[in-house]
Amino acid sequence: PLDREELGNKSWGLLHTIAAKYPENPQPKDKTTMREFFTLFSKLYPCQHCAEDLKEDLLKNPPRTESQEALSQWLCRLHNRVNVKIGKEEFDCSKVNERWRDGWAD
Ligand code: FAD
Repeated sequence: PLDREELGNKSWGLLHTIAAKYPENPQPKDKTTMREFFTLFSKLYPCQHCAEDLKEDLLKNPPRTESQEALSQWLCRLHNRVNVKIGKEEFDCSKVNERWRDGWAD
């Protein structure tokens, strides 16, 4: 079984990759699907206290589905609120597409 750390690490990989591939100019259906995805994800995420906090956070900070940039930045800020909560370093959200969409320039 996956422990909480590994489940989290792999889940963030999936979530940030989904945001990286989201359309630049989403159709209304894309926006609805994305909002539904996060609602369902927060009901199913298999770490109970994580899921409870996520549901509350989503109510206060609903997904920004108007573009790839908006969604990726929104998710980065959500991830940073979890980082702060559990004492991890915050990530620089200006680098989120470099990390999860384009790959680091080097
Ligand atoms: P992770 O936080 O898993 O990050 C993986 C990689 O993402 C990092 O190496 C970094 O390259 C990149 N990254 C880091 N921050 C950002 C960011 N803001 N934006 C974009 N990329 C970033 N654990 C708990 O103990 N309590 C909780 O309540 C909890 N809630 C969670 C809620 C959700 C929705 C998820 C998906 C996970 C949650 N976790 C929780 C797990 C926790 O967030 C970490 O995934 C876990 O501690 C492993 O951390 P990690 O060091 O591997 O890095």
